Amino acid sequence: MSKPTVGFIGLGIMGKPMALNVLKAGFPLVVHNRSRGKVEELVAAGAQDGGSPRGVAERAEVILLCLPDAPDVEQVVAGPNGVFEGISPGKVIVDMSTSSPALARRLAARAEALGAAMLDAPVSGGETGAREGTLSIMVGGDGAALARVMPVLQAMGKTITHIGPAGAGQVAKACNQLVAALMVEAVAEAMVLATKAGVDPLRVRQALLGGAVYSRILENHGLRMLERRFEPGFKAHLHHKDLRIALSTAREYGAPLPGTALVHELYGSLVAAGKGERDNSALITVLEGLAGIVAGTSRQEE
Ligand code: NAP
Repeated sequence: MSKPTVGFIGLGIMGKPMALNVLKAGFPLVVHNRSRGKVEELVAAGAQDGGSPRGVAERAEVILLCLPDAPDVEQVVAGPNGVFEGISPGKVIVDMSTSSPALARRLAARAEALGAAMLDAPVSGGETGAREGTLSIMVGGDGAALARVMPVLQAMGKTITHIGPAGAGQVAKACNQLVAALMVEAVAEAMVLATKAGVDPLRVRQALLGGAVYSRILENHGLRMLERRFEPGFKAHLHHKDLRIALSTAREYGAPLPGTALVHELYGSLVAAGKGERDNSALITVLEGLAGIVAGTSRQEE
């Protein structure tokens, strides 16, 4: 059986390596992105240029999205020249962006009315997981549609979990993001305490990595914080957006999230200072500011 043509819209830090893995797995690929340069890179690797979200949806049977935020997803899918204008019965849209559960449910219902299906399938694993094809993919929506796109998802991820109906994948991702945010904040606090106490934070991190609080966030984000490597990675304004989604979802269901609210405000201060494009590990600079640590005195500030 020949492989279905796959569409990919949103070729950023995550989308580009994910799209390349789909291509590598032998699926014909049609792409679109807001800025042209990234489309040209994919075309050079063997993809076709879909021209617009509508153009991608007309030519592909499975349409993948990896866009920044919910309004981007809504515009690309339901806006003028969008995916819904090019969709036909039997096609499956898979939104791999981190977006809102409420929007996922709304768009899935509209896709169904058009005879198509739409899954929410946000991912965890970062740029490395995207490059290596080892992402954890959290899926909400119709099980039969998921079974049809499973070989495409397997080209990008290692752990693919059907969480539940439409929106459930985004709820799982909101849970993931609030855990990640509180962990980034905790690691930053630990590094600030070590520094203020005159103890080498690199050695503290090293010791902690061998004990009960080992985590990839302590390992990777902790090192980035200490080496002042704030080029993204995962942009701080996107993590801020994820916590906004978690908080509004929590409000909808009556789940108090006090820790998430605090870290949302701390990320908000980074974004307000014009540093939202930095990696989320730059959260430490907010805590250093509170602690009166002047960055760049003993270490190289970016
Ligand atoms: P990114 O680097 O900012 O990429 C977003 C891409 O979407 C850019 O290439 C952008 O084009 C494109 N885009 C934006 N609006 C568009 C539109 N209207 N039409 C077509 N293309 C459009 O972000 P990212 O880090 O890849 O993240 C993408 C999603 O994955 C986000 O929801 C994020 O929260 C989530 N995520 C990220 C990570 C991570 O570690 N980075 C991990 C897990 C999940 P331009 O070239 O014009 O900017």
